[in-house]
Amino acid sequence: MTLLKAITFDLDDTLWDNHGVMARTEAGHYRWLLEALEAWCAARQAPALALTEEAGGLDYLQRRQALAKQVPERRGDFTWLRLRALEAQLEAVGLPRSAALMWAAAAMNEFHRLRVQVTPHPEAAGLLAVLTERYQLAAITNGNIHLARQPLAAYFPVAIAAGELLAPKPDPTPFLDALSRLNVAPEHAMHVGDSWQEDILPAQQLGMHAVWISEAQAQPLPPRVHRIAHIKELPGVLETLEQHYSGGVYSH
Ligand SMILES: [Mg+2]
Repeated sequence: MTLLKAITFDLDDTLWDNHGVMARTEAGHYRWLLEALEAWCAARQAPALALTEEAGGLDYLQRRQALAKQVPERRGDFTWLRLRALEAQLEAVGLPRSAALMWAAAAMNEFHRLRVQVTPHPEAAGLLAVLTERYQLAAITNGNIHLARQPLAAYFPVAIAAGELLAPKPDPTPFLDALSRLNVAPEHAMHVGDSWQEDILPAQQLGMHAVWISEAQAQPLPPRVHRIAHIKELPGVLETLEQHYSGGVYSH
């Protein structure tokens, strides 16, 4: 008998560093759009659109921020926000609506192509392969990476995009959804993530075990919460927990 039956994982900055890929995706898909539109307008002998990478990129960001305030339930659904912001921007610079919809969708296709080019930590795939023999695994992300196309997708039969559920973490909904789909009680599940607010607190408050990936120095941690500096230290935590459990510490 093991204490844990399931482990849920945050993705960004837990199983890979997200900063580089996000910066490349942000700049790359917008540059791709402007270049594709320039060629499209030239081929149709239409005037070039008044959009530059810098000013257009800033306007795109401001439109997303405004939209997230206007439609707060969509604030974590980043793909939706980007698509609507691009459609509105392209219409505002003079594209007919049908062309604006088409080019916004094409830009988001390029966004997702770039966004999945993450490089998992070298230990991640081996670790998940071992864990999957013993535990049910799930992914819970607030990000908008394409869950079926991300490089570790094969290890996560249950994968939840919390923003698209309109309930981004720290909302408990995506955790409860994962537990329900795994058919596991919170006390037999562990969540692993890098965000204290979005990963650790909600999981702990639901009664799950939690592993916080953080460089922060040791501080008093609430019950059932452990801290490691890197995902590769997870097996040590699991071993200690399971040993305590089989030794009777958790059976009182
Ligand atoms: Mg994260």
